[in-house]
This record gives sequence, C-alpha cells and structure tokens, in this order.
Amino acid sequence: MAQSLIQTQIPWTVLNCDNFIAGAWVKGLAGSLSVHSPYNGMQIGKVSLPTTAQVQTAMVSASNAQKAWAQLPIKERSKVLYQFRNILLRDLDSIAHLKSSESGKTFSEAKAGLMKGIEVLEFALSIQNLDLGGKVEVSKGVTCEYRREPLGVIANITPFNFPAMVPMWTIPIAIALGNAYVWKPSDKTPLTSLKIADALSEAGLPAGIMTVLQGGQATVEAIIDHPVVKAVGFVGSTKIAKLVYQRATQLGKRALALGGAKNHIVLLPDANPEMSGPGISDSFTGCAGQRCMAASVLLAVGKNDPQIEKHIQNVVARASSLKLGPDMGALITRQQKEFLISAIDRIEKAGGKILLDGRKAKAPEGFEGGNWLGPTIIDQVQPGSEAATIELFGPILSIVRCQDLSEAMRIENSVEYGNACSVFTSSGALAERVSREASTGMVGINVGVPVPREPFSFGGTNASKFGHGDITGHQSLDFWSSIKKITTKWEAQTDSNWMS
Ligand code: NAD
Repeated sequence: MAQSLIQTQIPWTVLNCDNFIAGAWVKGLAGSLSVHSPYNGMQIGKVSLPTTAQVQTAMVSASNAQKAWAQLPIKERSKVLYQFRNILLRDLDSIAHLKSSESGKTFSEAKAGLMKGIEVLEFALSIQNLDLGGKVEVSKGVTCEYRREPLGVIANITPFNFPAMVPMWTIPIAIALGNAYVWKPSDKTPLTSLKIADALSEAGLPAGIMTVLQGGQATVEAIIDHPVVKAVGFVGSTKIAKLVYQRATQLGKRALALGGAKNHIVLLPDANPEMSGPGISDSFTGCAGQRCMAASVLLAVGKNDPQIEKHIQNVVARASSLKLGPDMGALITRQQKEFLISAIDRIEKAGGKILLDGRKAKAPEGFEGGNWLGPTIIDQVQPGSEAATIELFGPILSIVRCQDLSEAMRIENSVEYGNACSVFTSSGALAERVSREASTGMVGINVGVPVPREPFSFGGTNASKFGHGDITGHQSLDFWSSIKKITTKWEAQTDSNWMS
C-alpha cells in the first residue's frame, strides 16, 4: 500500500516544460535542463530555456496586456481569480501529485501547500472589499483622495521547496491589484508551473497577464534588468536573496527578497508533553526539513531536568516511528543528501551525540535511486558551531542544552537569520517573554511551524528578509501597488487660508 502511494506520484512520461509567453507555451531556444524526481532519480521533465529575444517578447506582451487588465474594475479581475480557485480545487489531487513527484514531498504535504496557496487566493478575493482608497474634505471645498493603483509588470522568483505555495503567496494578490505577473519558477521544480498557468488561462485570465520564464541565473537577471519590470519578489536562499535584492534596488526597483533560516524551538520543562513531542518532531521532519519554517535547533532549558529528558525522548520516539516514503519525503537532490550526510559526520566528530541516525534509514523498496535521509537528532551541540548556526535544510534537529531561558534567548538572538522561533511551555508569562525577546519575524507558542494564516502576513527579519513589508496579507498590498493622491477643488474660494 505504502509503495503504491508513492508510485502514483511519479509521472511515467517525461513532461515538456516550456515558457508561457503571451498566453501560449513556447519552446525556449536557449537550451534545456532536465528534471529528476527526488523519489527515484528518474527524469520526469525537460525544461526549455528562453533566449534574450524570447524574454523581450514576453515582456512586451506582459506590458501591453497589463494596460488593459488595469482598466478592468477590481471586481471583474476578481471574477477570474474566483474561477481560478475553483479550478485549483477541482484539480487539487493532480497538481499535488505533480508537485510531490518533482519536489520529493509526500502527497499530503503537497496538497497542504496548495491549500495554503488557495487561502492566500481567498484573501486576494477580499481585496475588492478592503480599503482600496478614501476621500476626505480637507478644507472648505477641497478634497484629498487616495487610490490604490497597480505597478505594471512585476516579477517573482521562487524556490524549489514549495513549487505551488510560494508562487501562490504572490500570484493572486499581485494579479488582483491589476499587475501583470512574470514568474521564474525554480529550475529544480518547474513542472508545477504548467498546471498553475493552464489553470489561470482556463479561468479566463487574458494572455500576457501571467508569464512563465524558465531557467536559472541568466533568466533571473534578464527579468530583473528589463525596464518594464517595476518590482521584484524573491524567495530562496539568503545568498541569492541578497544578490537579487541588490540588483533590483540598484536599478531603482522595488524588491522584497526572502532568504534562508535557522529556526529555534525553546523547550521548557513545564511544556505539555502531548504537544511538545509531535510539535517538535513534526516541525523538523515535515517536508523532510526542507522548509524555511522548520525547527533546526532545540534549545532545551534546564540541564539534567528529568522533564526535559522525557520531552526529548518523546521527540525521538515520534521521529523514529516515521516511515520514509509515506510519512516523510525525499531530499531535492543527491548532492543535498551527500552534503547533509557529511554535515552529520562533522557534527558527530565535533562531539555531537547522535540520538537518532538518519544515515542508517533505508530507502522505500523500489525507490533506492531516490534521495532519502531519515530523521536525525543530535544532542550536545555547542552554540556557535556549524550545527547551531548554518542552515542545513534537511531533517536534522540539533539539541543545545541551556542553563536557563536567558541563555536560550541569547543563543537564539545570536544567529544571523530571523524567520521563526517557537516555545513549548505551559506558562503564559514565559511564552510572552519569548515572544518579546525572539529576534524573528514569526513566533510560535506551542506551535512548531508558526506560519501565520491569512490575513496575517508572512515574513521574517534579519538575513531572512531583505526589503520592507511582508510578502502576503495586509502588509503585501502596499508592495504590489502604489498609492496615488488626488487633491481637488471645483469652486473658486472666497475665504482662502494657507491650505487653499
Ligand atoms: P535558491 O536560492 O538556490 O533558488 C531560489 C531561486 O533563485 C530559484 O528560482 C533559482 O533558480 C534562482 N537562482 C539560483 N541561483 C541564482 C543566481 N545566481 N542568480 C539569480 N537567481 C538564482 O533556493 P532553493 O534552493 O531553491 O530554496 C531553498 C532556500 O529557500 C532555503 O534557503 C530556504 O530557507 C529558502 N526559503 C525561504 C523561504 C522564506 O519564506 N524565507 C521560503 C521558502 C524557501
């Protein structure tokens, strides 16, 4: 049963994945890349890369289409998005299968990611009823008004680990606000873009409002540099986030670039064991640890505290019960698997005590060619060491023992990233202290993966985010639009004052 569940996720043919330009799939003429399933290493896709001339055609089409799209009232634009939502719900399973086959996620994780994307879409549908402008008589006979207007053509570059959810953070909001959207999916997981772009077309989105350009650095640079692109959204590693942010802002464009993470969970002895075991284990094993909100370091407060030992035993028990395949997916590439194994080797050599060894986990039968690594828990990790500071991006939990909460928060504050920090405790006062002192943009209280639900926005701080505002929710509206201010007078004033 478990095996057949996995097998249904692998497409048996190699999908051609081209570029979506002016409402049609166009073969890129600058070469191709192949896509391999993390499940078994099989080639499942062939991606064609656009030439500079094809990028230029795409941009002209996007820019022309945007002018007409922006003229439509938001209620008309929202009707298309409502249809898009219905199509995504109709095709949920097939999109989730494709997503999991290219990203290594389990089917249920792939489905959950798409559902989160649909939640953002539902938020975008509510923009038509939110504050889109306002008018006030500011002095006698004079009114001031503000209107929210689209920017024009905007671009988004997305990572491999959420092939639908991360793009869906921005697609519905940016399009609802009247922009044309240029998407550069991850070169490792581009296939899901086929389904998303087709669903938008079927929903009635005019040609040119969604453009998909495939590839890596060359395509990204061509997009950012193109004069019609007014704003750039990016989600990926900190190294590339910085490069993208710098390139776009040097050209005077808006940029919001979300980077990597090194998330902490503070474990206090008084935590509810029914919540701490699953909460901590699921946080570092979900998506095989390949998510920017995954727990990476457990700050266990109270040296030699028997309660802490029990909590840790529960985490180990829960993580060791997971079966590779049905319960935990695969890593994106063989190189990433090798990198993680060598990191575990180094951490062990540096004095880390292995409580659960994922290096020994067996691939599911029939999937030996995949990139499998079991959950790994390493105790006695030193603050400041590789295991405690570097983003590993895999199912590895490092435990740092802390004397007290002050020491734990000092360690949490010392890491360069700033996505998420969670605390497991029964004390409201201690939870409040962690939420105030955490150096992150998102905090969880007895929640291992504190992703805010819409309309609360998503976004970290420090090296996890470059730029102002957040990428979803209310905070994102100002990023994907501009505010025009109109001051009006219709009659000559007799009693003028300094404002007239
Ligand atoms: P990545 O930085 O390697 O790639 C992200 C995107 O940038 C991809 O589309 C890729 O094709 C493109 N790219 C790669 N090299 C480039 C270059 N030199 N110039 C321009 N573009 C380039 O990231 P990834 O491996 O796909 O994703 C994993 C990373 O993303 C992790 O660090 C993870 O923490 C981070 N992430 C962050 C968030 C967040 O919200 N902060 C969410 C998801 C993932």
